[in-house]
Amino acid sequence: MNRVYLDYAATTPTHPDVVQAMLPFFGESFGNASSLYSYGREARAAITAARSSVARLIGADEDEIVFTGGGTEADNMALKGIAFAADGKYNHIITTSIEHHAVLGSCEFLENLGFHVTYLPVDKYGLVAPDDVRKAITDNTLVISVMHANNEVGTIQPIAEIGRIARDAGVYFHTDAVQTAGHVPIAVNDMGIDLLSVSAHKLYGPKGVGALFVRTGTRISPLIHGGAQERNRRAGTENLAGIVGFGTAAELARGTMTEEATVLGTLRDRLITGLLERIPEAQLNGHPTSRLPNNVNVSIDYVEGESMLLHLDMEGICASTGSACTSGSLEPSHVLLSMGLSHQLAHGSLRLSLGKWTTGEDVERVLETLQEIVSKLRAMSPLYKAPGRSAQ
Ligand SMILES: *Cc1c(COP(=O)(O)O)cnc(C)c1O
Repeated sequence: MNRVYLDYAATTPTHPDVVQAMLPFFGESFGNASSLYSYGREARAAITAARSSVARLIGADEDEIVFTGGGTEADNMALKGIAFAADGKYNHIITTSIEHHAVLGSCEFLENLGFHVTYLPVDKYGLVAPDDVRKAITDNTLVISVMHANNEVGTIQPIAEIGRIARDAGVYFHTDAVQTAGHVPIAVNDMGIDLLSVSAHKLYGPKGVGALFVRTGTRISPLIHGGAQERNRRAGTENLAGIVGFGTAAELARGTMTEEATVLGTLRDRLITGLLERIPEAQLNGHPTSRLPNNVNVSIDYVEGESMLLHLDMEGICASTGSACTSGSLEPSHVLLSMGLSHQLAHGSLRLSLGKWTTGEDVERVLETLQEIVSKLRAMSPLYKAPGRSAQ
């Protein structure tokens, strides 16, 4: 049975060209980038090329890219790094209730150290109101952190507008762009961004490598101390092969992003329309138009997301409920609850995220399979009364 992978938001397969580009760095090109002989120089040159590819993807300068061990580390470095470098007066952070746990966890940690954090609400589509951001700013505000697009429901935030508000107020602006980098155009200068997190494995690169964009002039403390790597901003011998793979993935994404978004947007809309037509009492979660081109998130009333996942898995279809981090716990998604969904609808949510190798046939197969699964599960549910089925 052919598997259908619809969980690109959790991780993407590493592109074959990326794997090819990485291979020499596990073999003959093994040098340490800090060494002064030729092997070291080769490694250094490869890292420089990768840095410039990642910088180009988001419209930054090479010097503004710090390689990290992934998106989670980039988010931690942005928030804690800026907090640790601040003088005592600036002890207020503004973020949202729908951020990734990498941001929320860092904020909770800083709260324990005495920082104050404002968690802004979102509307029913998962949108943050720029006016709420403006009103939350005080004389003590240090940084605003609002994600570019949400990993669960795909809603894209008005980042440029929030960036302008931050700039006008003289407050730093961080955005978690892990879901958008390489998928949606980003220009850090036009968008007023000072700090931006990226992860390679969400754009067809390898796992365990990412980057934080740090605008020139932004004061930030390192989290990892030791050697002088990454211009004293992140110590430790560089993940050479990973960084090379990240650079290659960024370069590929820059070339294919626009066309891919068009193709995926069409498949996404076909999947959304099909689901809403074929499954009664299903609703789309997230914004109808300001939305990642590859994200579908629906709530299907009277069924459990986990049951749908298990049945889909038996049919060879990989999907997700809420996010990979929250599945496995019984708590429903903090994102869906923030958007005002009931616990029941939040528990009945399903995320289908599309990518480079998704086909129209995949979409058709999911539609047919899910329709059958939902009918079967609802037939067993004591709560569900099918249209026309009389109450007992
Ligand atoms: C995946 C993800 C992260 C974490 O990135 P890792 O590289 O897996 O640590 C952070 N933020 C968002 C929005 C994500 O989707």
